[in-house]
Amino acid sequence: LIPVICIDGPTASGKGTVAASVARQLGYHFLDSGALYRITALAATRAGIAIDQAGEQRIADLARGLPVRFEGERIWLGQDDVTEAIRTEEAGMNASRVSALPAVRMALVALQHGFRRLPGLVADGRDMGTVIFPAAPLKVFLTASVECRAERRHKQLISKGISANIFDLRAQLEARDARDQSRAVAPLKPAQDALLLESSALTVEQAVAQVLDWWQA
Ligand code: C5P
Repeated sequence: LIPVICIDGPTASGKGTVAASVARQLGYHFLDSGALYRITALAATRAGIAIDQAGEQRIADLARGLPVRFEGERIWLGQDDVTEAIRTEEAGMNASRVSALPAVRMALVALQHGFRRLPGLVADGRDMGTVIFPAAPLKVFLTASVECRAERRHKQLISKGISANIFDLRAQLEARDARDQSRAVAPLKPAQDALLLESSALTVEQAVAQVLDWWQA
């Protein structure tokens, strides 16, 4: 059996950083499932398809054949390096809209299951523990206060030379979380057997250490 560790949680809770670090330390593969929704939204926009119910089937078809490649830190869509293009707040909001379409979620299931390879997988997202890998032996639900998440996202953007207003960021996070929690299919919520990790007062290293402790317990 190939082990899977799921790390789910709201926007900017630090899931991505924590999950990537846990994967590195265990020598496991890493699935950034949010990137798949971001890339799908970008592909739809580039194909001129509106992200709504009318476009649902066409976007699902795009998602099923998505020519996506993860190469170290870089993410490719066909011949295009989309690493930066998918990280804007607009791309995040478009990903959230695309991810509320049930046919699109279904279209991405097989792709996500394909990341489960030896010696193991750390999967980061919203529904890793509830829908995609429900039998995973460790499911973590990572949270942090909205103030803390807005501040972290702000620092992250500033460090990349992107200016941003922290109040706008906070409003965007809250809007995205509200959409992710209220959608009909795979709403954002902890799996029944998830362990909650509140990271507002923790460093990345402390959060990673807690996940590794749980894994080794
Ligand atoms: O994690 P990230 O912010 O990159 O995810 C972007 C959006 O993709 C989320 O706001 C959410 O709507 C959607 N998503 C999802 N299910 C996942 C991962 C992300 O619905 N497993």
